[in-house]
Amino acid sequence: MKIIADTHTHTLLSSHAYSTLLENVAYAKKIGIRILGNTDHCPAIAGAPQVWYFHNQVAFPEVIDGVIVLKGAEVNILDYEGHLDLTDKELNALDWVIASMHAPVINSGTVEEHTRAYISVAQNPAVDVIGHSGDGRYVYDYEKVIKVFKEYDKIVEINNHSFMTRAGSKKNCTEIALLCKKYRVPVVVNSDAHFCTEIGHFPHCIQMLEEIDFPEELVVNADYDRFLALVKEKSGRSFTENVIPR
Ligand SMILES: [Zn+2]
Ligand SMILES: [Zn+2]
Repeated sequence: MKIIADTHTHTLLSSHAYSTLLENVAYAKKIGIRILGNTDHCPAIAGAPQVWYFHNQVAFPEVIDGVIVLKGAEVNILDYEGHLDLTDKELNALDWVIASMHAPVINSGTVEEHTRAYISVAQNPAVDVIGHSGDGRYVYDYEKVIKVFKEYDKIVEINNHSFMTRAGSKKNCTEIALLCKKYRVPVVVNSDAHFCTEIGHFPHCIQMLEEIDFPEELVVNADYDRFLALVKEKSGRSFTENVIPR
């Protein structure tokens, strides 16, 4: 499986990551990643950029040195009602929106509470991707919620960082991926890079997906044309043909 896009990456603007956008782009180009998601943390995380940072991503070109850069955000799920820390209007202006639970922002609750939160987030049309939901601190009713992700056209993230940093992730991510396979829910394989040299490296995700014989056609970023079509649909942007690198 060849992954051509890495759509969950951070820059030093997240304040606990260590590369610039240009360093991320340069590394992506070097290792053959053709589409990069710029998805810094959102304001509820201490030190994250303020709201202006996100909509002002129009300041950089849609293609930098041959790499398509998606203007995105990793928005925080604030509570069990599924509220987020950017407004729908702000999120709708972006190409790529990942919604995640983070320990400094939302307390670990019960399975029922996490289930309620994810079902609410699933119903928000401004959200494209459910981020690193295999986290052992936020276990939800996988069977029930994965079907809701399918119903509301959400993409489920398989996050390489999780296997190293979020307890319980290997077991939980495998269970989530098996349900995505069962219900034909698309997944996206991401690095969640906090330093440029992590970009494009997903060994734990690939190994797990191969172990369960996960269908490649459900991995949205395993094919350039298919993924670009999806991004156009999700972002509403046209990506004029003359700027799209071939
Ligand atoms: Zn995250
Ligand atoms: Zn992240």
